[in-house]
This record gives sequence, structure tokens and C-alpha cells, in this order.
Amino acid sequence: MLRLLIYLVTLAILIAAAVWLADRPGAVAVDWLGWRIETSVPVLLIGLFLVVVLFSAVIRFWRLVVGLPGRLAERRREKRRRQGYLALTDGLAAVAAGDAGRARKNARRADGLLNDPPLTLLLSAQAAQLSGDADAAKNHFARLVERPETEFLGLRGLLTQALRAGDQAAALDYARRAHAVNPDAGWLTATLFDLQARAGLWGEAAQTLRDAAKRHVFPPEDAARKRAIVAYERAGQAQAAGDRREALRQARQAHEADPAFPAAAVRLAELLMAEGKERKAATALADTWRVAPHPDVMAAHLGLSPADDALRRLQRAEKLAAANPDHPESHLAVGEQALRAKLWGQARAHLTAAAEARPTARVYRLLAEVEEAEGGDAAAVRDWLAKAAAAAPDPIWLCRQCGGVAPRWSSLCPTCHALDGIAWSDPLHPPPALPAAAPAVIAP
Ligand SMILES: [Zn+2]
Repeated sequence: MLRLLIYLVTLAILIAAAVWLADRPGAVAVDWLGWRIETSVPVLLIGLFLVVVLFSAVIRFWRLVVGLPGRLAERRREKRRRQGYLALTDGLAAVAAGDAGRARKNARRADGLLNDPPLTLLLSAQAAQLSGDADAAKNHFARLVERPETEFLGLRGLLTQALRAGDQAAALDYARRAHAVNPDAGWLTATLFDLQARAGLWGEAAQTLRDAAKRHVFPPEDAARKRAIVAYERAGQAQAAGDRREALRQARQAHEADPAFPAAAVRLAELLMAEGKERKAATALADTWRVAPHPDVMAAHLGLSPADDALRRLQRAEKLAAANPDHPESHLAVGEQALRAKLWGQARAHLTAAAEARPTARVYRLLAEVEEAEGGDAAAVRDWLAKAAAAAPDPIWLCRQCGGVAPRWSSLCPTCHALDGIAWSDPLHPPPALPAAAPAVIAP
């Protein structure tokens, strides 16, 4: 519409100019180098107009001829770029599909066609990683680290390579550097924490946990458990260094972060006892017994006063069991101490209650002991022992990562070094495996 309007207006102006010129005829004479031209003004103007049109057409043609090689080169470059990106896309698809050969071929092709080292380097690194060429992958990732815009990608690749090779020291170094570049990557914070813990760098691990809390890297319950373990280990380190105040402070933190953590309660109780605070030690153990009764806690509670006779020990056991009186572990502990104190009736009552709730080998063996000590009905004793042989095994410390058996709880599995892998478990029904602590790997 607007175009039509402009066209009509231009046409009107041209017609008006032509009419104006036609109304004003005039003659022009030019004398030049012996030539003489005589004409009217309109003809002269038209002549001048034609000269201008011809001149501009010649210039345009000239430009076309001169610019041709440049345009052809630009078209070739464009084609190479297109082919390069195609190779890159195909290569990335091959990495995702796990096709190492196609990934390598495309990586080489893209590298030859594209002048974009960060992109092609990443593909080359992934292709090398996929085909198991660790040295080449490391080389490519190291070159990515040299550029600020790809430093994090490179460090991530190197970290993955180090973890795959089982080189914990190198992995820790890369994780630290990558964390400094990008502290917001949650998976990296989790990996860094795991590596620091495995290396026994509990002070550093505590700092990483504080950092993780700000960024909500771990779910609240998981974060509390990790805080408890770190504080438990720091208490141990402080104790070994002779700093009892710091040891007590850390042990208290561990116990508060996770009251259902038997080892932390036991360590806190030991440290409190060393300060002569027996009542506080007993309270800490009772707190844990209330939520997670465990034989280690009972043993620590009985150990608060090692010189006790059997009757006093029974009273002690009863006192702790009162924090969680219906739990089979409470019945088992009180029943066993009653047996040692030769109170057969009480022992039988508690052990029977324990056997009803959790019929394991140990309960039946204790019942056989009661039977034997009380009257000595050989058939009844044999009956209990037969039941013990057929019963489910008692819980033990098992690693959730490698399935290894451990003599006692420790933060790191003595076999596979998994953090918090050791759990008090039914050997026939082990708990589910730990979630993978390794970072999201770039290549499959
Ligand atoms: Zn393990």
C-alpha cells in the first residue's frame, strides 16, 4: 500500500517536472574542441540522465567481476563450516550412542574442517575417553583447561579420568580446582566432599559441607549425617592431638547432628567420662538408645563403671533399656545381664520377649544357657540349640558398597573406603547399596 503510494507520488512529480519543462522550452548550444551541439534543455537533461544510468551500470558490472573470487571463497568456507558442524553433531551423537569408532572419525573430520578448538577438542577428548585411550583424552582435556572459557570442562574431564584410573590424589586436586572455578556445581561439591573424606582431610571436608549447606547440595537428613561423621572424625583427631576441649566440642556436635549414631554417642560418653561427667555420659547414651538401640551403646553404658558386680551391671542395663523398653535389643541386653546375675526367671522373661520380636541365633543360645544353668533339662537345652542353629543370623557390620564384613563401625569402609558404607545389617537382607558418589561422567 505504502509502496503504491510512493510510486504514485513519484510518478506525479515526474509528470509535473516534464510538463514544467515542456512549458518552458529553451535552447542550449555547446562549443567544445571544434564540436558544436545545439539542442533544447529537455533533450539535454534526458541525455545527462542516460549518461548517469550507463555509468552506474558499468560500475556495477565491474564490481561483480572483481568480487567473484572472494564470493566463491566465502561459499567454500561456508560449506566447510556446515560440513564441520555436521561432523561435530554426528560425533556427539556417536559419543551418546557409545560408538567409539564413529566418534573418533567425526572428531578428526570436525577438527580438520572447523577452526573452533574448544568444540572439536571436547569431542576429540570424549571420543578418546570412549575408546579407552586415557592418555589422548587427558591430553585433550588438559588443552581445554588452558582456555578460560573451557577450563571447567577440561577439569571435569580430567577429574573423571582420574576417578576412573583410581588416582584419588589427582582427582582431589582436579576437584579442588574445578570447585574454585564453579562453586555452584552440586555434583562437584558432593565429589569434592567424598574425596576429602576418603583422604581423611576432615577439616577441609567440614568446610565443603558448610559450602554445600548454603547451596542445598545434600538433602537435609543426608547433610546432617555427613556433618555428624565429619564432627566424629574431627573429635577423634583432636583427641589424638591432645586437645580435649575441641574433641568434646566436636563429639557433642556429632551427637547432636545425628542422635541415632551409636559411635558418636560412645565417643562423646568416653570424652565426658574423662572429664568426670558420668551423668552427662549416661544421658548421651540414653538419647541414642531411645532412637537407635545398639549393643555398642549398651556396652559403653556398662563400661561407664567397669568395677560393677553382676547385679549392678543388670541395674545399669535396666536403666538404659528404660529409654526404649519394648525394643528387642532392650529385652536382649537386660535378659543377658539377668542371666549373668543368675536371675533365671527375669532372664527367661526378657529373652523370650526378645525371641518373639526378633528370633536370632544369639537369643536362642542365651535361652539355652538359661535352661542349662537353671535346671539342666538336657532335651530342652538341645531344643534351644537346634533353634539357634536354624535361626536367622544376628546383625553385623556390613559395607553397603562392597558387601564386606567389618569388625566395627568406621567412617570409611576398611575394604573399599566408601564413606559411611558400614551399616548395622541383617546379613541375609543387606540394606540397599549406597548412591553413587562419583560425578556425572561426561561420556557413558
Ligand atoms: Zn566397602
